[in-house]
Amino acid sequence: LIRLGAQVSVRGGIGPAVLRAGAAGWHALQIFSRNPVGGQELPLPPPELARQWLERAGIRSLLVHAPYFVNPAAEDVAMVGRARRVLTTEMSRARKLAATAVIMHGGHVQGSPDHARGALELTLKAMLARPGEVWMENAAGQGRELLADLDELAGVIDRIGSRRLAVILDTAHAMAVGHELKTAADVQRWLQRVDCAVRLTRVRGLHLNDLKDPVGARRDRHASLLQGSLGRPALQSLLEAADRGNWTVILETPGRDVASRAADVAIVRELLSHKE
Ligand SMILES: [Zn+2]
Repeated sequence: LIRLGAQVSVRGGIGPAVLRAGAAGWHALQIFSRNPVGGQELPLPPPELARQWLERAGIRSLLVHAPYFVNPAAEDVAMVGRARRVLTTEMSRARKLAATAVIMHGGHVQGSPDHARGALELTLKAMLARPGEVWMENAAGQGRELLADLDELAGVIDRIGSRRLAVILDTAHAMAVGHELKTAADVQRWLQRVDCAVRLTRVRGLHLNDLKDPVGARRDRHASLLQGSLGRPALQSLLEAADRGNWTVILETPGRDVASRAADVAIVRELLSHKE
């Protein structure tokens, strides 16, 4: 069974966001536990209250997206030290929110890709020294972004060797890198590549996004479902894979609240109902 939801802003507070998502019939939710581009941490509710909100709303999977303003793969000692402080704190904050996992990007290469990967691996080890799961995204490959390549992602995961390190696949990022997702056969081909690299059993979630730019453009601009490069048969096939894999499915399409994601959620629900 798919747990479906979207990324929402928690500006009005985490509790109201969780309850609105539940009222819309979502079973999953992704949030930033702090401002993603900088600034102070949002105060958290007492853990018991956070758990009650999720239960009352029927949210079975809360994902906490790590902030963007730190680079977990930085070579600069001060920069990477700051990233590790922020991200290990994020692990603790996610736990207090009863979240399923912290969602991470691989960061950016400053000097050499080897050094960047080494720095990223130490950051992940520091995060996994605390309880909880980390789910890594395949990247869109903008600029010198790490982990656009599935084999590179697999290498990092293998070297860490923790069962608490998993993968959340992003369809917009996959298309940005050059994987066409128009037909069911395209999805089969991409998931086979994923299976060869990281193994499908490592995949826990799907960031279900369309892409504004042409496939392979290495630009990360998300579009609403079926408004970009993603094909309807591919979308259907992705939902079947998500169902088989018991993945959490999160929309990161344009919009920032429950209401603005309603059209995308409706498309997914319609395709799911056809399947039955
Ligand atoms: Zn992300």
